[in-house]
Amino acid sequence: MDFPIVDLMDRASCEAWIETYFHPDGLKCPHCGASLEQGRWFRRTQKSDLDVYRCQECKGIYNLYSNTVFEGRYFRPEQTVLFIRGVCQGKPTAQLARELRISRTTATEVRHQLQANAEIEQPETPLEDEEVETDEMFQNAGEKR
Ligand SMILES: [Zn+2]
Repeated sequence: MDFPIVDLMDRASCEAWIETYFHPDGLKCPHCGASLEQGRWFRRTQKSDLDVYRCQECKGIYNLYSNTVFEGRYFRPEQTVLFIRGVCQGKPTAQLARELRISRTTATEVRHQLQANAEIEQPETPLEDEEVETDEMFQNAGEKR
């Protein structure tokens, strides 16, 4: 019996999880900082099937992956959640790539970026708020919201 776990995940729950961990202050325009309420739905990406918004303030477009390690990747939300779960659990990259039906090259690259960010963000002194540490693991290096 096969368990196509990617297909069994709930889309809305995955998007909510991603927003919570990637954008703890809420999704907003990465170009000018305007809130999602100041944007409007623009289109849906073909491969990752994400909503794309156009900012009414600066006309920039963005989605859940903007300014994160997953920007420009074709992960669907379910694949993203399961991928991060697998990395955190220390699953081998080859197995993750197979299970989630993503290329091994992509899986390796994204894993390395996540791990590099996690190392950069290792604080000198313990943080009081672990969430800060977590979401910065997903941000593109050098990018600040
Ligand atoms: Zn904007």
